[in-house]
Amino acid sequence: MGKGFFQVPTAINEPVKSYAPGTPERAAVTAQYEAYFNGNIDVPMYIGSDEVKTGNTNTMSPPHDHKHVVGTYHLAEKKHVTQAIESALEAREKWAQLTWEQRAAIFLKAAELIAGPYRAKINAATMIAQSKTVHQAEIDAACELIDFLRFNVEFMSQIYEEQPDSAEGIWNRVEYRPLEGFIYAITPFNFTAIAANLPASAAMMGNTVVWKPSDSQIFSAKVIIDIFKEAGVPDGVINVVYGDPVMITDTILESPDFAGVHFTGSTYVFKELWKKIGNNIHTYKTYPKIVGETGGKDFIIAHPSANAKQVATGISRGAFEFQGQKCSAASRVYLPKSIADDVLNYVKEDIASFKMGSPGDLSNFITAVIHEGSFDKLAKYIDQAKTDANAEVFAGGNYDKSKGYFIEPTVIVTTDPKYTTMETELFGPVVTVYVYEDADWSETLKLVDGTSEYALTGAVFSGDRYAIDEATKALENCAGNFYINDKPTGAVVGQQPFGGARASGTNDKAGSAQNLLRWVSPRLIKETFVSPTDYRYPFLG
Ligand code: NAD
Repeated sequence: MGKGFFQVPTAINEPVKSYAPGTPERAAVTAQYEAYFNGNIDVPMYIGSDEVKTGNTNTMSPPHDHKHVVGTYHLAEKKHVTQAIESALEAREKWAQLTWEQRAAIFLKAAELIAGPYRAKINAATMIAQSKTVHQAEIDAACELIDFLRFNVEFMSQIYEEQPDSAEGIWNRVEYRPLEGFIYAITPFNFTAIAANLPASAAMMGNTVVWKPSDSQIFSAKVIIDIFKEAGVPDGVINVVYGDPVMITDTILESPDFAGVHFTGSTYVFKELWKKIGNNIHTYKTYPKIVGETGGKDFIIAHPSANAKQVATGISRGAFEFQGQKCSAASRVYLPKSIADDVLNYVKEDIASFKMGSPGDLSNFITAVIHEGSFDKLAKYIDQAKTDANAEVFAGGNYDKSKGYFIEPTVIVTTDPKYTTMETELFGPVVTVYVYEDADWSETLKLVDGTSEYALTGAVFSGDRYAIDEATKALENCAGNFYINDKPTGAVVGQQPFGGARASGTNDKAGSAQNLLRWVSPRLIKETFVSPTDYRYPFLG
């Protein structure tokens, strides 16, 4: 520890900028978008102090213009992964000993860099790499990431303050040691903030990391690396490798020094990881920490007392923003017959008013889905719904991948509450609606609970407090984040800690002290001031 009980700056949520016409932020992000779009960057791997270019490269293209190339990145061979592990272990010796306020200062500086000089860069890179509108980029890449960094510093200092009582003559203290070994961070395509936070949160607690970003996010991952470097994250603390996820993962999980995985992505991949870790358990020096936030099949259920326009807005925003590619996106909806037509027609009107196209045109609300694999999967489910007798494509249903991977926001209405798109995570702008008889409200709650393996987010809309109470109790285990009269997306760090249970993850709540606690191994130190000199207790007479 340093020479003082330092108080960290109070964390506040970064205000969301508007990007309205005429604002300076709009001019800055537009200019940066053009520069990146017309440029051609070559992204190396970062191993210790080396920027590694293997010459074996993949190209990077925006999902909304997939024939256009904006850069390349270099693919790892097994030896590079081994070098990244060695580099992390070497860097750990100094990093783990650095006083906490120095680590805090680095990540607080990173937050300020994003809020200021890097804001347009990280937003424009996210618009290009992940096809986010400027608003979706701003709330993710700028604001949520700034919030993760600021709030986690505050949570870290709260953890360190948590100390045991001491009886007379002794002093008990706990130090929160980083894990012995290195951490493996595997990140998804859909949030730049998550991509940065998974390695950064472990590093903040004194760990060193090997980070493997998603292939579809490397363009914006490069900006994260630039920010961390400028903020002063030392070489070797966060090592970055790209390439075959199975080879990289298998190499890492073979290491006796593997101490934990910080994963966000799909459920199947996480379960496979868990299995491999189990198979290798006799190899490891410690029991690895396994933290994973995974898939969802997030619901909205409306009670007959709900306001139809509010429910419709919850669906339009909750299901379609960022093309439904949020783990929290509403994808199954239960509407009572009495208001179903109103809700569906409002949603149809909303969809008709959405503009779809490149995020470079700021008037577009919907852009492309992430890649061809996702496009083809979504098109297949939409086509299936067009032919199935128990389903109807009520709105949308068109798609086109000639220039970008564009899927029209689509509403499927089904008469089968267990229809495939009520159960399967599609991860795109497709929502399925089941209409229930008003009298079946309580039964429908049981249906919501029993329909999906996931339990990430969910929402109830109702004007009736008894109905809200009933739903809150009946759906207790259906969602790690439960919303009343609000859409199930848009969790804010420091306000709604995020994570789900069942097949949706270990629920270690990103952006909370609970998550940071997974990256430490507390050591209790008991000191006795005057040590006894006779073993006999008084009862021995
Ligand atoms: P994904 O599972 O395809 O990829 C996630 C990461 O795992 C990537 O880095 C990928 O390269 C890697 N990966 C893929 N196959 C692997 C393998 N066999 N072994 C090791 N690593 C492998 O997920 P995605 O498409 O990037 O992201 C979408 C998924 O993430 C959705 O299921 C979504 O629900 C989930 N998600 C969950 C949360 C949450 O907080 N619960 C947040 C964001 C995304």
